[in-house]
Amino acid sequence: MAQLRAFESARRQGADIPEITCFEKQADWGGQWNYSWRTGLDGHGEPVHSSMYRHLWSNGPKECLEFSDYSFDEHFGQAISSYPPRSALFDYIEGRAVKSDVRKYIQFSTAARWVDYDDAAREFTVLVEDLVTKQTRKHVFDKLVVSTGHFSTPNVPEFEGIGTFPGPVLHAHDFRGAEQFAGKNVLLVGSSYSAEDIGMQTYKMGAASATISYRSKPMGFRWPDGAREVPTIERIDGQHVIFADGSSGRFDAVILCTGYRHKFPFLPGSLALSTPNVLYPANLYKGIVWQGNPDLFYIGMQDQYYTFNMFDAQAWLARDYIMGRREVPGNLERQEDIQLWLQKQEALHTHEDEVDFQTDYVKDLISLTDYPPFDLDAVAVLFKQWMHDKEENILGYRDGVHTSVMTGTTASAHHTAWLDAMDDSIEAYLSTPIGSQP
Ligand SMILES: Cc1cc2nc3c(=O)[nH]c(=O)nc-3n(C[C@H](O)[C@H](O)[C@H](O)COP(=O)(O)OP(=O)(O)OC[C@H]3O[C@@H](n4cnc5c(N)ncnc54)[C@H](O)[C@@H]3O)c2cc1C
Repeated sequence: MAQLRAFESARRQGADIPEITCFEKQADWGGQWNYSWRTGLDGHGEPVHSSMYRHLWSNGPKECLEFSDYSFDEHFGQAISSYPPRSALFDYIEGRAVKSDVRKYIQFSTAARWVDYDDAAREFTVLVEDLVTKQTRKHVFDKLVVSTGHFSTPNVPEFEGIGTFPGPVLHAHDFRGAEQFAGKNVLLVGSSYSAEDIGMQTYKMGAASATISYRSKPMGFRWPDGAREVPTIERIDGQHVIFADGSSGRFDAVILCTGYRHKFPFLPGSLALSTPNVLYPANLYKGIVWQGNPDLFYIGMQDQYYTFNMFDAQAWLARDYIMGRREVPGNLERQEDIQLWLQKQEALHTHEDEVDFQTDYVKDLISLTDYPPFDLDAVAVLFKQWMHDKEENILGYRDGVHTSVMTGTTASAHHTAWLDAMDDSIEAYLSTPIGSQP
């Protein structure tokens, strides 16, 4: 959506843009934000893309992801809270896409199946399947942008004895809601956003306990009573789980919050990005240009503090390279630039360092494009405030309010504290509860 918006923005400024086709395997746009109750396979037998769940509220302040050319004020016409539910963020990204009229470029329910590159002709041949008619077609392109996300293919580790566990064992990708865990003792494996948030979802929905097992180091939040962190699993024996420090527990369910894999089943090895989830994947110049073939671009492949506005900055730069407004430098210069970023990445120690790193990265991108600039240092301060708020109160940080660096608008406090908010629909979110009118 960012890439299409970038081209459309150039077109509206009078530029002659290239012919664009976008293939989207789902029936609608929004990617992860296009929620599905389904797990496993969708109605066409395709792997379900979204890993989002009911009661998912933004886990970072919306002020950190705001588009600089489409503010929350413009979309909602009123101040809203800093941590909206999934439905409101979907509404926001859809609002910009509708306003910029980019739907015309998209062929929905069409999956990319295979890509070939012809070195002599410098052309990509893309084989796609229309999931409704089952017809396959080939299309030829000069440039290719891959923006298929990287939070859909679960990373599933093995644990001794896990096959003997008698209760449900699921990956976070297949988690849709914690109501079923009321009264249960739940083991969450992992130590990042999924373990933290799904752990607190189970708490919110009345789990008897939430035990979070980390591999390298604990997240260290001040967990509420009934939640705790333990080291990695040594082995599992029926319902009984033994951890590396010798402690053990009896559990009713295991949720593997063990991350995702970058997976591109439609790309040959020579074109497919292979990387762990890091802030600067190797082989991508400026985080977007495939080093092995500068006609190929990737958007959104890095680990993310910044999201929507970073994808925009990437898309604006990719657009300028594709349109020849800016020349992609030669192989050596690209490699040197990649090396510099990789070296900086190696020197990162704290989450604050990581925020500063990604802030510098987005600044670098924006400095090369005409994406409307904004105060990235102020956004970095917001990220650090957010991390501090989480340390202070992991159940209450979403009740805090922040000020937009785009518009100066301070968020309104939501009518219901996150812990008590049981209706995540956009209607309930935007409503003013009876009795709270001045
Ligand atoms: C559980 C969860 C919670 C999150 N919470 C937040 C949050 O609170 N705030 C935030 O800013 N970010 C959050 N994110 C990050 C989120 O991934 C990004 O906000 C954003 O959705 C990434 O956009 P994307 O376009 O790169 O990828 P995606 O949103 O994953 O979109 C990729 C698109 O590519 C399509 N596709 C895939 N394969 C093919 C194919 N072969 N052919 C055709 N189409 C294909 C998919 O159907 C999908 O529509 C969260 C992610 C997860 C998983």
